[in-house]
Amino acid sequence: MGNDLFGLGGLVKGLSAFMPKDNPDTKLFQLQTEINDMEDKEKELYAEIGKRVFPDVRDNPEFRDLIEEISFIKKKLGEAKVELEEVQATISDQKRMEEELLESRTCPNCSNYNPEGVKFCQECGEKLGDSEKLKCPSCGTVYTAGTRFCGECGSGLL
Ligand SMILES: [Zn+2]
Ligand SMILES: [Zn+2]
Repeated sequence: MGNDLFGLGGLVKGLSAFMPKDNPDTKLFQLQTEINDMEDKEKELYAEIGKRVFPDVRDNPEFRDLIEEISFIKKKLGEAKVELEEVQATISDQKRMEEELLESRTCPNCSNYNPEGVKFCQECGEKLGDSEKLKCPSCGTVYTAGTRFCGECGSGLL
């Protein structure tokens, strides 16, 4: 006999020890769970049969309404997936823009976060803005002011 006190079996046994077996509420809950599980399984099995016989019945007029509905759902599903990708792309674009804005307002010299629209850091006077982004002349990697050597290619930056 394996000791699975900490496994699911043990947990369920442990719980049921606290719930009297002849308690109608407990019994009701158990039966509802069991029935739901079995009904789900039944649906899955019918769906599996449907998928397997689909190629044989797709031209059978008896199933025309259902086949038409499946085609309709497939079309809608494809459209929804395309739309989902577009929304995801929009969200990541927005995120990137927010990050860029955050970056353009954060002083490269002292890291002070400045209010929107200021051109110079209110803390140390460093020039702000992405137009002033420093790029390694050799490899194009962006670096912060005061960096002496490119972290990417090792070129001198001062
Ligand atoms: Zn600053
Ligand atoms: Zn470089």
